[in-house]
Amino acid sequence: MSQRATDREYGHYIDGEWTDGSGSDTFESRNPATGDSLATFQRGTESDVDEALSAADAAFEEWRELSYIDRAEYLWDIYHELRERHDELGEIVTKECGKEISEGKADVTEAWHMVEWAAGNARHPHGDVVPSEIPSKDAYMRRKPRGVIGCITPWNFPVAIPFWHMAIALVEGNTVVWKPAEQTPWCGQVIAEMFEDAGIPDGVFNMVQGFGDAGAAITDDGRVDTVLFTGSAEVGHEIAGKVGGEPGKLAACEMGGKNGIVITEAADMEIAVHSAVMSSFKTTGQRCVSSERLIVHEEVYDEFKERFVDVAEEIAVGDPLEEDTFMGPAIEADHVEKISKHNELARKEGAEVLVDRFELGEEEIPDGHEDGHWVGPFVYEIDYDTDLRCLKEECFGPHVALLEYSGDIERAVEIHNDTPYGLAGAVISEDYRQLNYFRDRADLGLAYANLPCIGAEVQLPFGGVKKSGNGYPSAREAIEAVTERTAWTMNNSKEIR
Ligand code: NAD
Repeated sequence: MSQRATDREYGHYIDGEWTDGSGSDTFESRNPATGDSLATFQRGTESDVDEALSAADAAFEEWRELSYIDRAEYLWDIYHELRERHDELGEIVTKECGKEISEGKADVTEAWHMVEWAAGNARHPHGDVVPSEIPSKDAYMRRKPRGVIGCITPWNFPVAIPFWHMAIALVEGNTVVWKPAEQTPWCGQVIAEMFEDAGIPDGVFNMVQGFGDAGAAITDDGRVDTVLFTGSAEVGHEIAGKVGGEPGKLAACEMGGKNGIVITEAADMEIAVHSAVMSSFKTTGQRCVSSERLIVHEEVYDEFKERFVDVAEEIAVGDPLEEDTFMGPAIEADHVEKISKHNELARKEGAEVLVDRFELGEEEIPDGHEDGHWVGPFVYEIDYDTDLRCLKEECFGPHVALLEYSGDIERAVEIHNDTPYGLAGAVISEDYRQLNYFRDRADLGLAYANLPCIGAEVQLPFGGVKKSGNGYPSAREAIEAVTERTAWTMNNSKEIR
């Protein structure tokens, strides 16, 4: 029988118990900076998912009977633990997914923000009182839980995104079956231990480790009322297609982007360079909101290019546990391969390469980290053309195109919108008319002005349009995906109506 963190082999958490599950296959969590194995995990099967869903289904009726306040109490315990163990958990995030240490810790901070928001929400109004057409009638909207929520999360925010999904789902009275990303099962293990320590009733929270087949077993099961998914467009569209066709079942999916920053002739250059560097290279470009296109006005193009290229040449790539590292490794060998293919595609399509640190020099790789998945910045300029695939497909790496434009903000936004995605983007300008035009006309769920496009606040909606989004599985709007609305009208008079 697998135990919680006592040995190096871990299982699933189902119905309040740790279990090895029904399968015999295991998989490793590996540190992407060293290639070292961190721990071994059971690979979940369809039968393990079935067991977890049965437990969640059975636990639902009792859980929904608790008050919001009582349900939130379990989350407050977790909130305190996330704060107390902030640095330790941040280090686990960094070791497992390679983000440099300040970002590893920021992942934990974002998690506690969500737990705080969701648990605090228990003391906020839930619904609307609506003036009725008839004075003696009460009219209002009440929310109730949907039932069993299936949560599928990616590796790049391995603590924050799971809590973004699950905290609000649980406070609203739903039960949960969660599958962490296969690259970050250790974070999954730690989170499950937190729920166990908080004493959450058996079956209310369940975790099955594993790969896409276990994820599909969750999304395809009729007992799941809502699927919350964050990950790639490829998988998200498949899930939205399958689940969307089933009456009564909801899918809220957040996916990737081909994000851009518009830098106009009225930009402050300090802000422009800082924003572009942060957006393109933080998390080694592996954020859904990372920027892969910089759309720069001809009047400031040369100055911006020179300054951006200088920084990209110097950025510190290295051991993510070191505080002066700016960029850690890519998540896995397959992903290095994928980034390489994107770089090659750009070359084939006519890119003028300005910085090519894709293959780091031997001296740049820290001692003892030779088996890490290292990549460095790749920066190119290219003449904008709507047929270029390199400007349309998400690379999810430190791969960035500089595009020069002439004309007004309308032209910049036209270029900006020429991708199938619409997740995040920024505009850098001191001209408020340009800012407002961008806000209103850029195809985006998340628009930033004079800021790097990387931030997220849980009290704001977080999600995208076009190919990037289909509902909101996280942050404030997730409440819509995990509750049903009842419009309640009641006659207070003796009159027959
Ligand atoms: P991914 O789509 O490969 O995997 C995400 C999760 O889905 C994993 O847990 C995986 O096991 C599971 N999965 C895979 N196939 C499945 C299937 N057929 N059915 C059900 N589940 C399945 O994504 P990833 O590589 O982990 O993450 C990177 C992607 O996520 C990027 O495209 C990035 O832009 C996106 N992302 C988006 C956001 C956002 O908020 N919009 C945030 C982070 C990451």
